[in-house]
Amino acid sequence: MNLEEKLAELRALEETAPLGGPEGAILPALLDVLDAMAQDLDEVRQTQDTILDVLDSYAGEWEEDDQEEAHYTAECPSCGQSLFFGEDALEGGEVICPECGAAMRFAWEEEP
Ligand SMILES: [Zn+2]
Repeated sequence: MNLEEKLAELRALEETAPLGGPEGAILPALLDVLDAMAQDLDEVRQTQDTILDVLDSYAGEWEEDDQEEAHYTAECPSCGQSLFFGEDALEGGEVICPECGAAMRFAWEEEP
């Protein structure tokens, strides 16, 4: 039984055998509050589902990006060591040779 069904049952019970006295006035108002909370919760769930769907689609894109990430090789001008590096290193504009510690700078021209 879900929340909405439980609330409907409770409301039916209250309508069948309403309480007298101050409690009798409070209970219907309390049920209204619970109904509103159940509706809000339902909206939150739907929003959560939407967010999870969006995250899932992004996760798919990120995996593709990882596979497509370009890697470069270069030869250290100082010691001749072959270097293998990714785009991240290039964006920094400098690659440090792990063999001799020489820094290689890259100057990038903006794409037309
Ligand atoms: Zn080197």
